[in-house]
Amino acid sequence: MLQITCPWCGTREGVEFHCHGEAHIARPEKPAELSDAEWGDYVFFRKNPKGIHYERWTHDAGCRRWFNAIRHTVTDEFIATYKPGDPIPDLPEAYRDAAASQSKEAK
Ligand SMILES: [Zn+2]
Repeated sequence: MLQITCPWCGTREGVEFHCHGEAHIARPEKPAELSDAEWGDYVFFRKNPKGIHYERWTHDAGCRRWFNAIRHTVTDEFIATYKPGDPIPDLPEAYRDAAASQSKEAK
């Protein structure tokens, strides 16, 4: 059974949570200056990596608060969860090589 650790409540069953997609998407500073294609990219396009992904989640059946998670999309392992506004945690040593190869593939 999938277990997820809410930063406020602790570890709970995965059915209590809901994923809301990619985290850390910055709103453009001057949206009026973007082209239609750039605005479309901001609004509609998200990363869909095979591997490490930074995501926004809510604890719907618990505290109902938002938090961020680092999840491996192949193994469904939650590497870390953290509160919005907290610094992004460093990846554990075991995941650093995978993250480095992912960023090379994205380029
Ligand atoms: Zn919670």
